[in-house]
Amino acid sequence: MNCLSCGRELSPENKFCPSCGAAAPPPGRLKSHMTLAVLTTVLLGNWIFGIPAVVFARECELAAESGLFAAARRFSRRALTFSLVGGALCVALWAFLGLMRFLGQGGGF
Ligand SMILES: [Zn+2]
Repeated sequence: MNCLSCGRELSPENKFCPSCGAAAPPPGRLKSHMTLAVLTTVLLGNWIFGIPAVVFARECELAAESGLFAAARRFSRRALTFSLVGGALCVALWAFLGLMRFLGQGGGF
């Protein structure tokens, strides 16, 4: 793991870079969930939740680059939540629409 600010090698117990004082990346990889956000948006037509998810994912990346890891984690969680909730809603909606079409073609009961 290296300092995001000056590139110096950091040990895991370093909370701050000993060289430039920048906050060290938190242990465990910080995920922006950008891929998930984009995939659920594009594949499922999850525009209502997907666009904010992509924005949150981007904010997460920007915050992490600026060393604001608490904020980055918050945005990361929001991006994940919006992706999953929006994705689940879209799957439910598509399933519902498919069912309605299926029933409609069957001519009802
Ligand atoms: Zn540094």
